[in-house]
Amino acid sequence: MSSIVLFGPPGAGKGTQAERIMISTGLPQVSTGDMLRAAVKEQTPTGLEAKGYMEAGQLVPDSIIIELIRQRIKLPDAIDGVMFDGFPRTIPQAEALAEITDVTHVIAIEVPDEKIVERICGRYSCSNCGLVFHETFNPVPESGCTCGNFEEKRRADDNQDTVLSRLSAYHEQTSPLAEWYDNLGIFHRIDGDRAIDLISTDILEALGN
Ligand code: AMP
Repeated sequence: MSSIVLFGPPGAGKGTQAERIMISTGLPQVSTGDMLRAAVKEQTPTGLEAKGYMEAGQLVPDSIIIELIRQRIKLPDAIDGVMFDGFPRTIPQAEALAEITDVTHVIAIEVPDEKIVERICGRYSCSNCGLVFHETFNPVPESGCTCGNFEEKRRADDNQDTVLSRLSAYHEQTSPLAEWYDNLGIFHRIDGDRAIDLISTDILEALGN
């Protein structure tokens, strides 16, 4: 089993690119953020524990995250590998991951902090189909969402206060992983401050697809 990691600050576009990479590589997307939001919604013990950290823009403790991943990669669709989105975010998570699967590529989507704030604070999605929009850059068309049943949803943590905490968690706890993976020779830097298609093309090239 060999896997790839999508790395980068919150709002870098990891989720958007994950959808495209999934189509090209066939690897399922494993987003710890999505898994945690589902757990919060279902009020599972993990969700109840994670909720406060997420609302404060802090990282959820490693033990919770590592257990979530251990369970997730046991599912049949993970047999040939997965594409991690938003995991690992700390050195202990990366160490645990190295014991679970062979990571072949780490794709770092780079976007400057000031762009991140702008992106996250204007972000919303269609709760019916999950398509992501932005108030200024990519608003939902007047004719509505392509799914035909648009309903606006905003993430509880997509606001000005929380985004600054999420960015500092990224710089303090997650960005040291760049050097860790760079030393392994599997780290690929991609300029994420461009058109979505250009970013996807570069990612697929880095993956050798
Ligand atoms: P994301 O959707 O990846 O932006 O994650 C949303 C929130 O979930 C983060 O701000 C953290 O509170 C939590 N989270 C997601 N993935 C992780 C992780 N790998 N380690 C710790 N916390 C995480």
